[in-house]
Amino acid sequence: MPVNVLIIGAGIGGLALAQGLRRAGVPAIVYERDRGPADRPQGYRLHLNPTGVQALRECLAPDVFEVFQAACGRPARTMTFYTETLRRLLTVEVSVTGHRSVGRDTFRGALLTGLEGSIRFGKTCTGYRRDPDGTVTALFADGTTATGDVLVAADGTGSVIRRQYLPHAERLDTGMRTIAGRLPLTTRVRALLPGSLSTGPVTITAPGGMGMFLALQEFQRSAADDFVSWGLGARATTTGELSGLSGERLRALVAELTAGWHTDLRALVHQTDTAAVTATAIRSSVPVPAWTPGPVTLLGDAIHAMTPARGIGANTALRDAALLARLLAAVARGERPLLEAVGEYEALMTEYGFAAVRASLAELKRQTALDGRAALALTRAALRLMDAVPPLKRRVFADLGE
Ligand SMILES: Cc1cc2nc3c(=O)[nH]c(=O)nc-3n(C[C@H](O)[C@H](O)[C@H](O)COP(=O)(O)OP(=O)(O)OC[C@H]3O[C@@H](n4cnc5c(N)ncnc54)[C@H](O)[C@@H]3O)c2cc1C
Repeated sequence: MPVNVLIIGAGIGGLALAQGLRRAGVPAIVYERDRGPADRPQGYRLHLNPTGVQALRECLAPDVFEVFQAACGRPARTMTFYTETLRRLLTVEVSVTGHRSVGRDTFRGALLTGLEGSIRFGKTCTGYRRDPDGTVTALFADGTTATGDVLVAADGTGSVIRRQYLPHAERLDTGMRTIAGRLPLTTRVRALLPGSLSTGPVTITAPGGMGMFLALQEFQRSAADDFVSWGLGARATTTGELSGLSGERLRALVAELTAGWHTDLRALVHQTDTAAVTATAIRSSVPVPAWTPGPVTLLGDAIHAMTPARGIGANTALRDAALLARLLAAVARGERPLLEAVGEYEALMTEYGFAAVRASLAELKRQTALDGRAALALTRAALRLMDAVPPLKRRVFADLGE
């Protein structure tokens, strides 16, 4: 049965799905509200685990997978914890097999490879309509429409399709905020970084329930685009309202919040171009009970947005894309009825997707529950103990990045 797929959102999940369908010869068009691939900063670095990389291998044709590989940075070999005055607490060795580290903008560039004719930029979806003949029509802010056999909401955490299709699916504000920035990796910047950053990311545990995550993105083929990214995590009650604040105000706020921190970390923040400083409110979806499958479905953050505490949101979106592409390809080959395939996708996706949501929320709570001085001292003592007892360390961090 010919199946025409409409995908709303050219983010990580939407583009991976488009690639998977293209590979299977299933016609699909992606509609994206950005005016072009470089319309806005895409954020910084993403860690992809073996599940995400395997899903990409499935979706991308070998030549496109090569473009993705070339966009990846050197994989991390360690993860180190420090105090805010840069005293080392713990170093964990991480397995690099099957893992990748990729800058978001270069990743999106790689995922766009070969899709030039299948993407419509500048198309803001406002909702959809189900048609009497069983097809579905996407509605756009410019008054245009597009009709297909199946509509996939890949429009991220604020999904307009989810709001219409599953209006009872809620988003929980975790009360955590991140402010992040990025700097080119010049010799002057490199001199400010903790030594262990060259082998893997660094987490700073700080008083007041705050933390900072630092990571390098060093490309394997050329050093010209190498960068370091930092992200400060803090409670909304500490940061105050962030929406609408300029990069300059956000950077000044980070400088204020990190007043007693090591001068190198403060210099790093100070040297960040304010155009590269952004804030995010950390939200988590509330799992919803199963629904009756129809010609509308969802993937990635549109259905199971999760906190970044475990670094698995994009990996899960990629897993969705590979699964849905596989099932829609079976429909196109006449092996499965459409609604049965959508139903199977949704049953599997909601099970592992909401499990990832729960795990990510639990991890965020674990990381942020202890913000009193005594609790921080206890956490640091535990990290030092793990550093001194390798078998304990291996057990505690057995599923790091998974
Ligand atoms: C600080 C931070 C760090 C993270 N680090 C990691 C990590 O290391 N590893 C990991 O696996 N995950 C990580 N994540 C999670 C990851 O970023 C998301 O899970 C992932 O981007 C979800 O992909 P997606 O395709 O579902 O949505 P998105 O990538 O958000 O894409 C949605 C797309 O839809 C478009 N869109 C939205 N609305 C409309 C509309 N109405 N009409 C048309 N287009 C629309 C948007 O412009 C966007 O292009 C992190 C998240 C945060 C906040």
